[in-house]
Amino acid sequence: MKISIIGTGYVGLVTGTCLAESGNDVICMDIDAKKIELLNSGTVPIYEPGLEELIKRNVSHDRLSFTTDMSKAVRTSDLIFIAVGTPPGEDGSADLKYVIGAAKEIGKYMNSYKVVINKSTVPVGTADKVRAAVAGKTKQKFDVVSNPEFLKEGAAIEDFMKPDRVVIGVDSPRTTELMQELYAPFVRTGKPILLMDVRSAEMTKYASNAMLATKISFINEMAVICAGLGADIDNVRKGMGFDRRIGFEFLFPGVGYGGSCFPKDVKALVQTASEYGVDAKVLKAVEMVNDRQKTVLSSMIIRHFSSKTANKKSLTRKPLMGKTIAVWGLSFKPRTDDMREAPSVVIINSLLRAGAKVKAHDPVAMPGARRIFKNRIQLFEDGYEALRSADALAIVTEWNEFRTPDFQKMKKLMIKPVVFDGRNIFNQDELRKLGFTYYGMGRK
Ligand code: NAD
Repeated sequence: MKISIIGTGYVGLVTGTCLAESGNDVICMDIDAKKIELLNSGTVPIYEPGLEELIKRNVSHDRLSFTTDMSKAVRTSDLIFIAVGTPPGEDGSADLKYVIGAAKEIGKYMNSYKVVINKSTVPVGTADKVRAAVAGKTKQKFDVVSNPEFLKEGAAIEDFMKPDRVVIGVDSPRTTELMQELYAPFVRTGKPILLMDVRSAEMTKYASNAMLATKISFINEMAVICAGLGADIDNVRKGMGFDRRIGFEFLFPGVGYGGSCFPKDVKALVQTASEYGVDAKVLKAVEMVNDRQKTVLSSMIIRHFSSKTANKKSLTRKPLMGKTIAVWGLSFKPRTDDMREAPSVVIINSLLRAGAKVKAHDPVAMPGARRIFKNRIQLFEDGYEALRSADALAIVTEWNEFRTPDFQKMKKLMIKPVVFDGRNIFNQDELRKLGFTYYGMGRK
C-alpha cells in the first residue's frame, strides 16, 4: 500500500519504518526540516534500539523516504497517518493544534479518496474534529479512522511488529477491510485486531495508560507505607504478583512515572471527564501520588545528610551544601533518550536547591539532559567517573548496565559508600555486607 505518516517523531518514525518493513511504500513527513535533513543523511534523530538498522534497510530498498513536502506526502498516498504530538494545554487537556493543523493540510492537498488514520493519542470526539477540518479544505471523499498506538519507547520495534492487540475504530466496511489488510502481517501469531466504534478506540488508549499509571502510583504508595511500617515492598510485591488477578507487570516501586505519555494522558483524561461532568477521583489521586513520589528520593538524601551534620550552625545553611551526589540514569526510563517529564529533572533540581553538587551519567540521554540543565550539573560519559569524590550515589533510571557494577571500584572512588537506590535494583543485604550504606524504596 502507499502510505504517508504526518509527524516523524518517536511514534511516526517507528510506525513508518515498520510499515515499510512489511512491504508498503512509506513517506515519513515532518515540518521539522532539521529532523528530515538528518534522516535523509542517514542519521536517526532519536535513540530506539534496532531502529537505525531497520531504517537503513528500508531506505536502501526504496520503500521508505523522508520529506517536508506535505503535498507530495498526501498526493502519493492512499493511507495517511497523523502521528503528531498532542502536548498538554494550560488546563491539562490535550492540545489539538498540531492534529487539526495536519488535518487541514491533508485536506488542502487531497487529490483522490484517502483514508486518514489518527495515531496520535487524542480525546474522545477528535475524529469528528479531524473529519470537519479535512472536509473544510476538500471536495474529495475520505474516511477517518482511529488507530491508537500502544508501543513503549525502548521496545518500540518489537511492540509494533508484535502487538498485544491492534485497536481500530472504524465506521465504514471499505476502511475496515483496508485496515485489516494493513495489519495482517503483524498479527500472524493470533493476536487480535479489535474493530470497534471510533469513540471507543479513542477512549481505549486513555483508559489503558490511566490503568498503567494507576498501577505505578498504587505500588509507589504501598512502598511509602511499607517504609513507614517496617515492611519490605520487595517481599510484598512478590506476594502480590503471584496472584494471577494482579500479576507482576508495572508493580515495581520507583521514583514516579514520567515520559511523554502517562503524565499528559492522565491529565487529559481528568480534563475530558470534567467536561462531561465527571470528577475523575481515582485519576486525580494517581497524579497526586506521582507528584509526591518524585520527591521521595531527594528527601531521603537530604534526611541522611541532615541527620549526620545536625547542629545549630547547620540549621541555617542548605542541607546538602558541600556534598556531591552522583546520579545514574536521567531518561524517564531505560533504553530511551527521552527526557520528557523525566523524574530525574525534579530530583536533580531539588538536590541543587538543597546545595548539592550533582555529577550525572546516562548511557544515551545526556544530550537531552545537557539542554535541560545547561552547566548546572556535570555530565560524565563513564558512570564510574561520576562517582569520583561523590558523597553518595542515587540510582534514578534502571538501565541494565547499572545492575551489576564493580562495587569495590565504586567504594574506592566515593568519599563514603552510600547508595540511594530509587529503583531497587541492588540486593540490599549484599551491599550492606560489602560495607555500603544502602537506602531503597519502601525497603526495611
Ligand atoms: P514527537 O514529539 O516525538 O513527534 C511529533 C512530531 O510531529 C514532531 O517531529 C513534530 O515536528 C511533528 N509535527 C508537528 N506538527 C506537524 C505537522 N503539522 N505536520 C507534520 N509534522 C508535524 O511525539 P511522539 O512521542 O511521537 O508522539 C506522537 C503522538 O503519539 C502523541 O499523541 C503521543 O501521545 C502518542 N504516543 C506516543 C507514544 C510514545 O511512546 N512516544 C506512544 C504511544 C502514543
